[in-house]
Amino acid sequence: MDLLLYIIMPVYGLIVGSFIGVCIGRVPAGEDIIRAPSRCPDCGRRLTPFELIPVFSWLALRGKCRGCGVRISPRYPLIELANGLLWLLCARCFATLPAIITAALALSLLLAVAVTDGQTGRIPDGYCIALAVLAAANLFVTRAPFDALPGAVVLSLPLFAVYQISGGRAIGGGDIKFLAATGLLLGWKLILLAFAIACVIATAIHGVRVLKQNASHKLRLGPYMAVGVAIAMFVGDRVVAWYVGLLTMYN
Ligand SMILES: [Zn+2]
Repeated sequence: MDLLLYIIMPVYGLIVGSFIGVCIGRVPAGEDIIRAPSRCPDCGRRLTPFELIPVFSWLALRGKCRGCGVRISPRYPLIELANGLLWLLCARCFATLPAIITAALALSLLLAVAVTDGQTGRIPDGYCIALAVLAAANLFVTRAPFDALPGAVVLSLPLFAVYQISGGRAIGGGDIKFLAATGLLLGWKLILLAFAIACVIATAIHGVRVLKQNASHKLRLGPYMAVGVAIAMFVGDRVVAWYVGLLTMYN
């Protein structure tokens, strides 16, 4: 079973990663992601099955369109590769099949959120809805509504107040929807941890960027929150157990 999973998961991860690459290009523009066939972004030529094999096609064609020779961004094979590795990591780190599949699908959505927000400054509603549906389905497996339901509001509700007071300047609406959906998925303890991790990484990286460029740079939270949620998914339970142990050590 284990060996089979270690083969199947990265392969499916590469294929889903290819779909994530399509979503990243099309979702912000409001284009169809299911029915419209893949085309060269430059000459519009429809891609053949040979050109749709994850990572391999890009390498075989040396990153160029076979029709017009325009350079195809290495972003596509990199996203496919990253997603394949994340899915392999899920097979390694989670015990049950439902947990592995939930984590793998969540990580693909997090990857899409991180890249899309990093590029456009927006988190499309579609990703938040997909994460919320995944979290709701996961409730049937974990049967922990008293952890998950407070998780959906513990951050999104206070931050929605901040959003209203600041007129949307302090935090984006997409960030709040994202935190509600991932909070439902992680539960209240882990989403608090995820947000804390995101804030620490964002302060460090964004701080250096602002200092280096000597200019104010609008902070896009999505990539940092996606990383925080991913870290909390893998090691959150252990961090929370360690923290609770620390608090109760002297009692
Ligand atoms: Zn072309």
